[in-house]
Amino acid sequence: MHEMSLAVNIVELVSTKAKAVGGQRVTSVELEAGKLSGVMIEALLFCFEAASRDTPAEGARLEIREVEGCGRCLDCGHSFALDSLLAQCPQCGGYAVDAVQGRELKVLSLTVDE
Ligand SMILES: [Zn+2]
Repeated sequence: MHEMSLAVNIVELVSTKAKAVGGQRVTSVELEAGKLSGVMIEALLFCFEAASRDTPAEGARLEIREVEGCGRCLDCGHSFALDSLLAQCPQCGGYAVDAVQGRELKVLSLTVDE
């Protein structure tokens, strides 16, 4: 995962949204990041700060909500906590596991100062 390009995308998205509602400055951004999305939170925070310089998002607080990984076995249907995309079903030992949660990466909301 390339945190810098991700940060640039987030800054562009929230800057566009801020302008659309006539806001001057983005004060906070709430982001949902699944634990299986491969994003390094620390790196993303750092990149966001750099990418937001001289944009309406400069100085905005980036709040990241981490989403736990959850997998479902395609063989036996068992659901379990997942911390890697290469997991083994604890019930039947199968490797056909579908990540049903934890790969999310999206902006949930933002706060704009008018
Ligand atoms: Zn299974």
